[in-house]
Amino acid sequence: MEMQSIECVPSLDGMDEDEMHRHHSQFPSIAVSKPLGNIMSPGIHPGTTSVHELLECPVCTNSMYPPIHQCHNGHTLCSTCKTRVHNRCPTCRQELGDIRCLALEKVAESLELPCKYMSLGCPEICPYYSKLKHESLCNFGTYNCPYAGSECSVVGDITFLVAHLRDDHKVDMHSGCTFNHRYVKANPRRVENATWMLTVFHCFGQYFCLHFEAFQLGMAPVYMAFLRFMGDEIEARNYSYSLEVGGNGRKLIWEGTPRSVRDSHRKVRDSHDGLIIQRNMALFFSGGDRKELKLRVTGRIWKEQQNPEGGACIPNLCSL
Ligand SMILES: [Zn+2]
Ligand SMILES: [Zn+2]
Ligand SMILES: [Zn+2]
Ligand SMILES: [Zn+2]
Repeated sequence: MEMQSIECVPSLDGMDEDEMHRHHSQFPSIAVSKPLGNIMSPGIHPGTTSVHELLECPVCTNSMYPPIHQCHNGHTLCSTCKTRVHNRCPTCRQELGDIRCLALEKVAESLELPCKYMSLGCPEICPYYSKLKHESLCNFGTYNCPYAGSECSVVGDITFLVAHLRDDHKVDMHSGCTFNHRYVKANPRRVENATWMLTVFHCFGQYFCLHFEAFQLGMAPVYMAFLRFMGDEIEARNYSYSLEVGGNGRKLIWEGTPRSVRDSHRKVRDSHDGLIIQRNMALFFSGGDRKELKLRVTGRIWKEQQNPEGGACIPNLCSL
């Protein structure tokens, strides 16, 4: 889709005369054409400033929705920011007043923009004012809640789900790309299908879910640990992780690529894509009298850097 540039602003001419007058009578010293006159000032090349950029609040960079405000000099800002700036324009420090930028609101109305998940495959082109609503429901950007062991039907984008996991599931949140976790179970013999608390790691600006659980693999009871990436599968491939578990002078190491949370927890488990520990081995690692499971799982997440020549990846190890 072609981005509209400020060169053609059709709805400006079509601006309601009444609205112009209202502005004039309310604020006699302000010319209505000023804000856009200012936007189109010679300092900004019209061809390079898209309307979309103009609709970004210069203070918080979020997209602006009505009411869009402006100062006497035509600097725009969103209504959320307006309530926070104590009546001072953040751009020119002049008194802000209470002026709406109807022209920009109308320009926005005429805009159609691609969904922000276009790069993930969404073909949707949305009218500006319904774009947010579409994006909050868009299948390309939303995920099911990754919490396992409950029938949670919450759907949302990653930011929303991280808050949901923290607030509603009381999930442990950790920052950093290395971890060291202990899993303890008093009576491991009775474990059939047990799921431990999910842990979320935040590193490289992304979120990862560490799962640990017990289940029956054929006839054998096993424990399994694996990582899922909170995002798309294509993005997940940029990361690798390792898991290590051991004791009594033995250890098991798993190295892999995190799976996307698009792949259900169950699907990842059933494909055995993770560190699998036979119960006997797990009890051996736990030491003691084999009556208690005490596993220490350490792990690391790192980002793979694409070799410029293509092909093999050079692992970029995070600080050890
Ligand atoms: Zn703002
Ligand atoms: Zn200003
Ligand atoms: Zn979409
Ligand atoms: Zn949930």
